[in-house]
Amino acid sequence: MAVFGKEKLIGRTGKVVEIEMVTPHMKRVRLAGKELRHQNWGQGHHIRIFVDSLLKLHDSLRSYSVWHYDGEEGLVDLLMLVHGEGPGSKWVEKVKVGDSATFISVLGRFRIIPEASYYLLAAEETGAVALQALWKNFPAEKKVLGAFEADTPEDALPDLPGKTLPWVYRQGKPASPESGLFEAIKKIELPPEPGVAYVAGETKTCLAIRSYLLEKGWPKQNLQVKPFWEAGRTGLD
Ligand SMILES: Cc1cc2nc3c(=O)[nH]c(=O)nc-3n(C[C@H](O)[C@H](O)[C@H](O)COP(=O)(O)OP(=O)(O)OC[C@H]3O[C@@H](n4cnc5c(N)ncnc54)[C@H](O)[C@@H]3O)c2cc1C
Repeated sequence: MAVFGKEKLIGRTGKVVEIEMVTPHMKRVRLAGKELRHQNWGQGHHIRIFVDSLLKLHDSLRSYSVWHYDGEEGLVDLLMLVHGEGPGSKWVEKVKVGDSATFISVLGRFRIIPEASYYLLAAEETGAVALQALWKNFPAEKKVLGAFEADTPEDALPDLPGKTLPWVYRQGKPASPESGLFEAIKKIELPPEPGVAYVAGETKTCLAIRSYLLEKGWPKQNLQVKPFWEAGRTGLD
């Protein structure tokens, strides 16, 4: 365990004990270790992994949502996309069983609002990791609307047991408000009253969906919107 800088963030190290291809570009990476036991990493948590030299501190940190956490065993599963550019993507491409991963944990923006009248989910494949992890914990009786976007049908994350939403496909286009997700959200016939929306992924698409829902009269506090990445920017948190 190490403490970094003034923020006194606690860095933990886990060993990579399992790797599985979930889609052709998305790996499930399981980290294990004593330092990972008995934490409160549940809904809405992500970790920031050092994907480059520790000396570069924040410039080498990249964020990944906690997909599954087993505090008794000290296991964390991440679903990590190889998208081509950036030290994070390269780390995921090269990672192998036996490697170490040092990271800090962060409680992010997403919170489950149990009293919501329904939930609206919108994300491309990296945002879908965070939103599906939340969805596992939604009250069972609540209606869930929304859509996800991936490059091709093979890149769509598998459905959670008994839970499904439509996927739309970019077919090689870069993710943007024109690549399909925003259109799919606009086509949804929403109930008259606002629900709670969870939106994650490519920045401009997130902001377009946020503006659309605000224009429809949804209160700001019903919108949990988290841009995950943006063309030309690095390491968003
Ligand atoms: C809170 C949070 C949770 C996240 N959870 C996950 C997760 O569970 N799984 C996951 O795979 N990702 C997740 N991400 C997204 C991931 O952190 C970013 O994609 C990150 O930019 C990857 O780092 P990098 O070094 O590969 O690219 P960077 O160096 O950060 O970016 C370099 C360039 O690569 C391009 N780029 C970056 N990300 C993508 C992308 N996803 N698709 C296409 N092009 C991209 C952009 O053009 C960018 O300018 C999360 C992000 C945040 C903020």
